[in-house]
Amino acid sequence: MAEEFDSGAFLDRLLAAVRETSDRGSFDCPVCTSSEWTILDGTITQQVSGGVGEVKVVPVVCNNCGYIAQFAAGQDFS
Ligand SMILES: [Zn+2]
Repeated sequence: MAEEFDSGAFLDRLLAAVRETSDRGSFDCPVCTSSEWTILDGTITQQVSGGVGEVKVVPVVCNNCGYIAQFAAGQDFS
């Protein structure tokens, strides 16, 4: 059985990491500069060329314009 993905916890860790490392203290959309995001429940499996294979990514969607940022699902932001 696949491990359940906790999208709320992932977003909390992502935003905490951004606050610690960003001069602006927020994760802003590169298209419209909004800082309001929705994390989708689940992951997307991407096929990576060059013998890398598959990587699971977490889609994070800008609430204003729909831009999608992707983060590796195993990222712990430590
Ligand atoms: Zn946007």
